[in-house]
Amino acid sequence: MIAKVIINNKDANIDQCFDYLIPEEFSGVSVGMRVSVPLGNRHATGVIIGFSESSPFTLKPISKVLDKEPVCSESKINFCLWMKEKYFCSFYQTFRLFTPPQSREKNVRYARLIVPYEEALSSIRKGSYLQTETIEKLKDGAVETSLLNSAVLRTLEKKGIIEFLTKREYREAYDQSKYKKSEKYVPTCEQKAVIDYLDEKIIKGETDTVLLHGVTGSGKTEVFLQAIETCIKNGKTAIMLVPEISLTPQMVQRFVSRFGSDVAVIHSKLSPGERLDQWQKIHDGDISVVVGARSAIFAPLENIGIIILDEEHENSYKSDTTPKYLTHDVAKKRCEDENAVLLLASATPSLSTYYKAQSGEYKLFEMLNRYNDIKMPEVNIVDMRGEIFAFRNMSPISLALQSEIRKNLDNKEKTILFLNRRGYSTFVSCRKCGYVVNCPNCDISMTYHKKTDRLVCHYCGHTQGNYTACPECSSPNIRYFGTGTQKIEEELNTLFPDARVLRMDTDTTSKKGGHEEILEKFSKGEADILLGTQMVTKGLDFPDVTLVGVLAADTSLSLDDFRAGERSFSLLTQVCGRAGRGFIPGRAVIQTYQPDNQVIKHAKEHDYKSFYENEIRGRYRMNYPPFCDIVSIIISSDNKEVPETHIKEVSKFIKEYSKHETGKIYMLGPMEAPVAKINNNYRYRILLKCKKSLDTHSLLSGIYEFHKKLKGKSFISIDINPTNMI
Ligand code: ADP
Ligand code: ZN
Ligand code: ZN
Repeated sequence: MIAKVIINNKDANIDQCFDYLIPEEFSGVSVGMRVSVPLGNRHATGVIIGFSESSPFTLKPISKVLDKEPVCSESKINFCLWMKEKYFCSFYQTFRLFTPPQSREKNVRYARLIVPYEEALSSIRKGSYLQTETIEKLKDGAVETSLLNSAVLRTLEKKGIIEFLTKREYREAYDQSKYKKSEKYVPTCEQKAVIDYLDEKIIKGETDTVLLHGVTGSGKTEVFLQAIETCIKNGKTAIMLVPEISLTPQMVQRFVSRFGSDVAVIHSKLSPGERLDQWQKIHDGDISVVVGARSAIFAPLENIGIIILDEEHENSYKSDTTPKYLTHDVAKKRCEDENAVLLLASATPSLSTYYKAQSGEYKLFEMLNRYNDIKMPEVNIVDMRGEIFAFRNMSPISLALQSEIRKNLDNKEKTILFLNRRGYSTFVSCRKCGYVVNCPNCDISMTYHKKTDRLVCHYCGHTQGNYTACPECSSPNIRYFGTGTQKIEEELNTLFPDARVLRMDTDTTSKKGGHEEILEKFSKGEADILLGTQMVTKGLDFPDVTLVGVLAADTSLSLDDFRAGERSFSLLTQVCGRAGRGFIPGRAVIQTYQPDNQVIKHAKEHDYKSFYENEIRGRYRMNYPPFCDIVSIIISSDNKEVPETHIKEVSKFIKEYSKHETGKIYMLGPMEAPVAKINNNYRYRILLKCKKSLDTHSLLSGIYEFHKKLKGKSFISIDINPTNMI
């Protein structure tokens, strides 16, 4: 027998199937097992994707089989091949998404006392601090050896005081015991219509794509829960995706409290070991529901009944590392393969999703009322231009917002303040000569971190000390710009000395559980004001929050991107939606320098339809998505000349191709990428606008194959409708 093996390599030229002989000792191998094979004069790892009887080549044998059982089923292998073809990447770059995280789980080793505690203490040498300390730690039971001093442990074992034991146990991604069981609600009419539709599809095993457009607080989550319950009752499984930022303990709790230990949670703060445990549990079939961020779409579940993308409009559903997939497309393919339903849900669907629903490609359900007829918050727009000139108020918090905050403090009601970080540069520059501190590896300004008083590059991670004087002109007036959350916090402390303020941003939530801690404090009433970045806009359901303030609505409006309006509308809607979810009606204050902007006006009225009509007309007029695809092609290399030559060759190829597709391809470039250097790699870019009438995929595979044949080494990245334009 001969095995067909794909090698683990991102080099496009090695990314193909090679034949190997299967020696007698490995006759039990199957598709989806990883193997070690000779390749040229070295050894490489690969995966078996099939078998054949004969081969036209002289073959070498497989040297080692690395798995006892397949890590990936045959259907997943086909899925990888589909992704490789669709997203122009190597097989292995997609395969590793489906396979367990690298950390091979070792059994956990524990130490425990085998004599009573007092006896243990008396049998060691007096004054041995380390031994005493270790015995103290073991007083209440077994402790992982990795947490103790191994030399001391060996000594104690020799003395017959302790013994070792090994246990294999699942480390839980959440604390089971914390969650109470919750019962399902009687659905409202609006909810029932959607649930009935989904139930029928799930039970019949018919694939379909459904868009649920429901305002904030309309009860979308209850719909998800009941559809998932239908899956479980029918022996099927479900994947529930939410943006990483919304994967709050509150969110997780709603699933765990309904489905208990049937739920696995996958998020980015899991350690590799925890991640592997979750993977293993799912793989073993112990799990019916996977809740997680984008990458959970690759969870090794079988027999899927439904895949749900909550807040489907979020950018984070688009991967910006290779493979540069859109989660919607991957989920749709998985649903088609498994005869499952894809449910997209949002209060502010993305323009292209809503467009598909309008045109009948997706089934559309709308829930336009909040549960219990709770009113949408009253939104007040404050013109910040007037603040400085009419009121001489220099504070970033308007007088109107100040008085609303005061009211809330007096009434003991809670407030959420949102600061849109984007555009609020925290770069360091010289006030005298204008010098900006840039990263030496990347062509981009460094960000100032107050806590450590250091400068950090957010692209490559390079850090350096801050300057006290300008390196160009020696002026001491070099400082960081921008109104970060810390500054607003200081301002709040000055304006409202009696208010208890909690700040939630990347600084305060970076440690594990940081997020959880802040939200718990806020929910317990240990603070009056929650101030934060994007994190406070998503998925929080605190009934006693009655006021929401948006400190600067403009920062996302003025972005140089055709999606700026879409992003702003959804951001404003989401954040205002945090107010008034309980019995007391909510208020929102939006501060802006552009009070007449259509997007802000529609957000004030909670009017998605009008926003959509207006925006889609503009997209049509300008020929932007969904009426075309925008493709970013970036060629990069650590050698300066190669990518420049390559991008020119590729542009010639495109020009030639365009001749046969008149009027369907618009090319911008070639030019240096907006960030011309990242991590010492020089980058050149072509932007393409491809009309829907063009077979874009065949053009792009032409480019991909053409680039492979060029002399010299460079990397090509093809990104379709990128969210990140750098
Ligand atoms: P969304 O996800 O659309 O923002 P939620 O699912 O968070 O809305 O629902 C808002 C609130 O209404 C929640 O507190 C939820 O528990 C409650 N709720 C939703 N549906 C029902 C129902 N059918 N019966 C009782 N309470 C409900
Ligand atoms: Zn200077
Ligand atoms: Zn850098």
